[in-house]
Amino acid sequence: MSERIAPTLLVLDMDRTLINSDWAVQIYGQACKQEGLDIRDQLRNAQTAAEQTAGSFAARSDIEKRADVTPDLMTRVDTTFKELCRQYDHRDMLVFPETEMFLHRAGRLAIPHVILTQGDDPQWQQLKLEAAGLARIPHVIAGLNDESGARITKGGIIASWTESTTGVVAPVGAEPTLSGPQLRARHAVLVDDKGSSFIDLPADHDAYWIQRGMLRPSQQIPAGSEHMAQVITSLLQIDIESYAA
Ligand SMILES: [Mg+2]
Repeated sequence: MSERIAPTLLVLDMDRTLINSDWAVQIYGQACKQEGLDIRDQLRNAQTAAEQTAGSFAARSDIEKRADVTPDLMTRVDTTFKELCRQYDHRDMLVFPETEMFLHRAGRLAIPHVILTQGDDPQWQQLKLEAAGLARIPHVIAGLNDESGARITKGGIIASWTESTTGVVAPVGAEPTLSGPQLRARHAVLVDDKGSSFIDLPADHDAYWIQRGMLRPSQQIPAGSEHMAQVITSLLQIDIESYAA
């Protein structure tokens, strides 16, 4: 008997789709302060610069580069960051209000889902996943550029997961390989706040462009690469029942 393949794989961006990344940076600044480092102004400046250039901001690597920061101090800051995020009010601010409900519905409907997050610093992405309580969900942390320095898009990653026989096969282990754990479905649904993520997404997959408030420069889609992404303002606008088996 052949293995049953789910109709849909939800591919969910993390930063600004599931969590409020600006808040993560603020709490990280607070964790630094508690450990004796006041770097809040530097964080703000670095974030503004990264936003303008469509780059992802990695709070952690910016601090790690400082001459006065030892590995031991980094470990303490990371631990304090996770502790602060776990505090009730902070977690409410870090994770968007509808995120848990959306994930719960996807789970109840047995729709396979994976968090696909990109960043320059995989440790910072992992730390946010853990702090937000999302590390339990299968996730893939990808870089921003390939070995040749070319930009990697989420659409391109999903294209690389696309097969003619199954549909999509997403490797989701800690070190994703095609022989490790996988999620399989006939087609993918990508949810992301950055318009450029949809570039290279094969046309038979669905896309939702989540827009909460005004678009930042890094969230705009480059002219000439418009995609059929449906614009939404909340995850709950996705009719996920229609993607269930
Ligand atoms: Mg994002």
